[in-house]
Amino acid sequence: MQPKYIFVTGGVLSSLGKGISSSSIATLLKSSGFKVSILKIDPYINVDPGTMSPLEHGEVFVTADGAETDLDIGHYERFLDTSLTKANNFTTGQVYLSVIENERQGKYLGKTIQVVPHIVDEIKARIKNVAKGNDFLVVELGGTVGDIEGMPYLEAMRQMKHELGSNQVISIHVTLIPFIKAAGEQKTKPTQHSVQELRRIGISPQIILARCEKPLSKELKRKLALSCDVDDDSVIVAEDAQSIYQCPINFLKEGILTPIAKNFNLDCIQPNMDEWDMLVKKIISPKNQITIGFVGKYLDLKESYKSLTEALIHAGANIDTRVNIKWIDSEKLDMQNIKILEDVDGILIPGGFGHRGIEGKINAITYARENKIPFLGICLGMQLAILEFLRNVANIKNANSVEFDVHTKEPAIYLIEDFIDQNGQNQIRTHKSPLGGTMRLGEYDCILKKDSVIYQSYHSQELIKERHRHRYEANPKYKEILEKNGMQISGESPNQLIEAVEIKEHPFFVAVQFHPEFTSRLKNPNAIILAFVKSALQFKK
Ligand code: GLN
Repeated sequence: MQPKYIFVTGGVLSSLGKGISSSSIATLLKSSGFKVSILKIDPYINVDPGTMSPLEHGEVFVTADGAETDLDIGHYERFLDTSLTKANNFTTGQVYLSVIENERQGKYLGKTIQVVPHIVDEIKARIKNVAKGNDFLVVELGGTVGDIEGMPYLEAMRQMKHELGSNQVISIHVTLIPFIKAAGEQKTKPTQHSVQELRRIGISPQIILARCEKPLSKELKRKLALSCDVDDDSVIVAEDAQSIYQCPINFLKEGILTPIAKNFNLDCIQPNMDEWDMLVKKIISPKNQITIGFVGKYLDLKESYKSLTEALIHAGANIDTRVNIKWIDSEKLDMQNIKILEDVDGILIPGGFGHRGIEGKINAITYARENKIPFLGICLGMQLAILEFLRNVANIKNANSVEFDVHTKEPAIYLIEDFIDQNGQNQIRTHKSPLGGTMRLGEYDCILKKDSVIYQSYHSQELIKERHRHRYEANPKYKEILEKNGMQISGESPNQLIEAVEIKEHPFFVAVQFHPEFTSRLKNPNAIILAFVKSALQFKK
């Protein structure tokens, strides 16, 4: 069938969970046997979030093809159990960049370039391109209706409906029904205004997704339907949920597929959510609990570790275990207060950039290694695990990373540009960032050593593919000394970059250069994170 489009807009205010709502709708459709893709449009002018501070933006999610994207793309992949590409997220910056490049190349044959039609045409072309080959495309528009920067996108939506017809394009408006304590009432007026704003630009939503803290009465639902001009069955109440993974189930119970099927002229849509439902039950009321010590430095910015904290939830759900996180600020961790790690069942060092908090992380690694506590190091976590081992086991006291000391005499971690493979060719796909850095981004092959924990964890697969986002690499000059002292190089890229290390004389001490969290999904948890969580559960018992 021709792709059908579901546009998701937000009203009243931001942070209403449009990303989760869009993911949930797409999940229901996919579970009903349809081919579904999903797209996030970010109306900001940055070309991508790669150069934005985590303060501004939360996590940068990396796709297999090496794009640095919005964190919602991570939610999409985790819900839909699929890998998306750079086409699944675009920004105003990208749209203007293409149009201006075309203009410079004379492609518009002397025309005056305007928002309408040129920018809007570029937007429509990008949307249709992602929809190709799918039954449905869910399009989430970032920001809130009424934002100046969102206008061209709303115009694109309006035009697409005009061109393709109302059986091919529907619009869902996610909005807030606030509860006003003083009046003891839920209020629908902000939603009415937001829908009026949409109508002013020619869009009448078919479905209202009403976020509220408390259940919405029948009367208020009817009032909303009447004032927003949607059918009675098209006001879907989305009450706050205990877990984001409950949302698809809640939406289904609320009957969201009825108006979707009706508007698209489809027979009833029937998803199979059995497996999902079972996993959600294990998230909400699991049999076991463990606590992981998460030693990071952006602790007031937990959003910047989104994929990793979700990956722990996925792994936990699959073994009926709640994974509690004990957040530990690496800048405050020294050998005096290291005992705060005493009650954890596993220690996790996530990725990170820069010198701040490094010594605290190294202390935590020493503690995990010496006390045989399950340990997983990710990216910077692997680099530090190597430094810790060289300094404290191999006795190379000044082993360091060029990231922390450019002139270090023992550059055990050094710059990617310095790497030349054995054929004399650098085969690393690099990416020059506008800030002058070169990042290794996206999916790469990794070959695992057969007699390793990581090999077993990945179900005896020799070749795995995982995603990267880093600038520095472990220096192969130190391989021999690491192995001689008991740290195994258990994963390497085809051109012999060090991708994983582990300590043989330890129940679970694994560190990886890639970011396993980017490929973790609720129905398909990442293998090494699952193995880590399992070993933490064993350690506890
Ligand atoms: N700062 C390190 C590097 O650039 C690690 C990056 C990361 O952990 N994502 O290589």
